Amino acid sequence: MAIKSVVTGTNNRALRKISRNVKTISYRTKKLLDDMIETMHVEQGVGLAAPQIGVLRRMAVIEYEDQRYEIINPRIVEQSGEAIAEEGCLSVEGIRGLVKRPKSITVVYTDREGKVNKKEMSGIMARIFCHEIDHLDGVLFVDKMIEETE
Ligand code: ZN
Repeated sequence: MAIKSVVTGTNNRALRKISRNVKTISYRTKKLLDDMIETMHVEQGVGLAAPQIGVLRRMAVIEYEDQRYEIINPRIVEQSGEAIAEEGCLSVEGIRGLVKRPKSITVVYTDREGKVNKKEMSGIMARIFCHEIDHLDGVLFVDKMIEETE
């Protein structure tokens, strides 16, 4: 495994592009997921999307309260409610702020074994998924920030 450097800056081109779907889950795809997990741990984040290490592919890793997800080609297929909470981002240094997100989501994604999963979640986990999936569309939390808190 290898620690990757995290791309930063709200105008960084890699962070502003739409990432492409992953067509086949190869050895390299799995290695990339491993590297993303290790990088997320070192950076002490709860999520990391591939564009944040300069790879424009639709994949992200998420780890919160001992639950880990490796998501490939994720899609939010249902959402409900609204919740406002504070967010930050490894790619946006020195800014935290309040962002409105759906309270609950249903997400469909492929895992590293190629299996398609459908999961319902709410609260902070739903928020992290929304934040990471936004990265795959070149969207940063600051674009949606209601108020800066730091
Ligand atoms: Zn982020």
